[in-house]
Amino acid sequence: MAMPYVDQDECIGCESCVEICPGVFHMNDDGKAEVIDGASGDESCIQEAMDSCPAECIHWQD
Ligand code: SF4
Repeated sequence: MAMPYVDQDECIGCESCVEICPGVFHMNDDGKAEVIDGASGDESCIQEAMDSCPAECIHWQD
């Protein structure tokens, strides 16, 4: 199953991905989004979050 990751250096903490896909992303203590451990996301939801990310910092992991 494809999993996303967030480039922490690029994330601006807008929380858009968390709003779109709360089962997959959450905000960490540094105010950056990260993928929830063991998240099994709906790919269309993840893709939507990716497309909506203003910093374009969500990527698919190989
Ligand atoms: S949408 Fe992008 S910039 Fe906004 S919190 Fe998520 S990863 Fe960070």
